[in-house]
Amino acid sequence: MSGSSARLRAIEAVTHYRATASPLSFSDVPASEIFGSNVFSKDVMRQCLPSAVFKSLMRTIDTGASLDSTVADTVASAMKEWAISKGATHYAHIFYPLTGATAEKHDGFLVPDGQGGAVTEFSGKMLIQGEPDASSFPSGGIRATFEARGYTAWDVTSPAYVLESRNGVTLCIPTVFISWTGEALDKKTPLLRSQQAMNKQAQRVLRLFGHTEIANVTSFAGPEQEYFLIDRNFYFSRPDLLASGRTLFGAAPPKGQEFDDHYFGAIPERVISFMLEVERELYKLGIPVRTRHNEVAPSQYEVAPLYENANLATDHQQLMMLTLRSVAERCGMTCLLHEKPFAGLNGSGKHLNFSIGNSTQGNLLDPGDTPHANAQFLVFCAAVIRSVHLHGDLLRAVIASAANDHRLGANEAPPAILSIFLGEQLNDVFEQLKQGSATSSKTKGSLTVGVDTLPPLPMDTGDRNRTSPFAFTGNRFEFRAVGGSMSIAGPIVALNTILAESLDFIATRLESSAGDEAAFNSAIQKLLQEIITQHGSVIFNGDNYSSEWHKEAEERGLPHLRNSVDALPVLGTDEVAAVFEKYDVLTKRELHSRLEVYLEQYAKTINVEARSTAEIGRTMILPAALRYQSEIAEGCANVKAAGCAPDTRELQHLIGLIGTLTSSLSVLETAMAESAGDSTLDHATHCCRSIVPAMQAVREAADVLEAVVADDLWPLPTYQEMLFIK
Ligand code: ADP
Ligand code: MG
Repeated sequence: MSGSSARLRAIEAVTHYRATASPLSFSDVPASEIFGSNVFSKDVMRQCLPSAVFKSLMRTIDTGASLDSTVADTVASAMKEWAISKGATHYAHIFYPLTGATAEKHDGFLVPDGQGGAVTEFSGKMLIQGEPDASSFPSGGIRATFEARGYTAWDVTSPAYVLESRNGVTLCIPTVFISWTGEALDKKTPLLRSQQAMNKQAQRVLRLFGHTEIANVTSFAGPEQEYFLIDRNFYFSRPDLLASGRTLFGAAPPKGQEFDDHYFGAIPERVISFMLEVERELYKLGIPVRTRHNEVAPSQYEVAPLYENANLATDHQQLMMLTLRSVAERCGMTCLLHEKPFAGLNGSGKHLNFSIGNSTQGNLLDPGDTPHANAQFLVFCAAVIRSVHLHGDLLRAVIASAANDHRLGANEAPPAILSIFLGEQLNDVFEQLKQGSATSSKTKGSLTVGVDTLPPLPMDTGDRNRTSPFAFTGNRFEFRAVGGSMSIAGPIVALNTILAESLDFIATRLESSAGDEAAFNSAIQKLLQEIITQHGSVIFNGDNYSSEWHKEAEERGLPHLRNSVDALPVLGTDEVAAVFEKYDVLTKRELHSRLEVYLEQYAKTINVEARSTAEIGRTMILPAALRYQSEIAEGCANVKAAGCAPDTRELQHLIGLIGTLTSSLSVLETAMAESAGDSTLDHATHCCRSIVPAMQAVREAADVLEAVVADDLWPLPTYQEMLFIK
């Protein structure tokens, strides 16, 4: 059966689904009752653990005290009973390898009792430590297969939960994944280390401000997830989506996103039922989802939870991606988390809202109404400015991937240049500080709408800037350049670590004048002036999409690392190693292993895309074009046989386009066959410089043909079909 009929069958299947779909059914259990019902939460622990054990665990969770391993047996037994009462038959240590995915190894609770029966078993040792062989996970050279031992170790600070699937229930225990030498093989280990490092330095600064009671300072994250949803029938008829998560071919539809009529529009019924289902699943896992809306591109949506402690938010974010995928499947759809599934339309990012704070001093990035008079806030804000200026290249490196390369710098996403948007009020305060001291803050005022029945609305002190990669949004920074399919761990680790360094710098400078109020105040003023003078060039409040900014950024000396191959090697520099080693977040060896893994992933991704492009080009698109060519040729021959002169312009045009396609395919195949050198960087560079442009040329040739070849011969579901038939 030809590809084109596969395409038509897909359209028929979707239309049939629409005609026969059963009406929505809503669960009548209130959300408040399901929320957290599958979590081994503090409440559950309080109820089922002896009080001394509960208190000991809480000390570890709330104050970062080390875990008393003697309580493990008691906790394990309670956890097992609780999980079994929820229907669990297995337990799994959940870990987060460098692939950015979530990994799990399941073991059954049942063990033979030696009498022909079985008992359930789950000891403290099984809770605390696991040893998945897992030697196939990338380690970037840290583990050779002959020394493949890797351990998972329980992260008490992220609660265990049960995960339901159609075929059973599993107790899931969040863990770190380390080598037998204790080196990090995952994304969680450095995250926990970086939280510790940032906490230590933030405490030093808070002590200087006279606080005596200071709870653990942690970072908070609120990740907004963008995604596309398309019918599963279309997904299965697009080998490019199956292989790479993005369309490698596809001409622009007659109508795209130009009317902005999808953005915040009414949500289609089929999608709403998907969203409700996703929310219910996430509630059960204690994930506080809050916001949902349509995004800019057709069939693009967003979901955002309320912000949480960054470690928990990161685990929850991984669960959210899994849930979006699995619920979509249940609803006959596919959720695409790729950063750029459709060329020419907006891609999907994961805006990472980031702040730091604790339970005693609150949000340390909250300016209050009069930021100019809030020295403590200004110091923390200056620490962020200094960090981003000194380490913009690192922040660029931790969001680098083959997929995000399509998005950064495209017309809807922040450019690959890291700058900070401060907003009018803060910008004004820092401008004053540059001159010496800040004496006023622009006030909020109120907004009148001009309709008597509407109340006056409080006006924000500054507008939002949607083009900035790193924007201050009232009481937090929004890192908007993070990609839709990425783990948020990497960006959080980098932010914590560079903040630790700046807070260390600030504390060291101010500590000498501590105790003497006048001296302290003047030291702060001097320090803030110095920081804003030296690092203010990272602040940009204008349009980040404009070409003038790219020029200006270069003049300001801000790095512009356009793609992953330019950006990733930053992870291997001595400067970055010095910071990460100083704060015990990652060793030079661990950083190098990460660089190796990410470069390798980049090259693998491009290679898969290249093979898929070549295959689809040769076996689906070229045959369709040749069939059409013979139809037209036959038409011309018929005209000639009737004694008339045929108009061969269409035929000539088509022959030309087919020639372009075949020659671009040959160029791609040659590039793929070329040897690229020895190192991983050589491979990645070859992919970036030779294979990516060659793929693009094939795509351009094919997309022109899509508008020429007879529709009934075209093998792939079109953009219009995938994005508008649902
Ligand atoms: P936007 O208007 O930017 O799309 P959303 O409401 O979709 O905003 O998402 C904002 C995200 O920022 C939410 O996840 C929210 O919980 C989070 N957030 C709010 N305050 C903070 C904070 N202090 N620290 C970290 N994240 C925060
Ligand atoms: Mg949002």
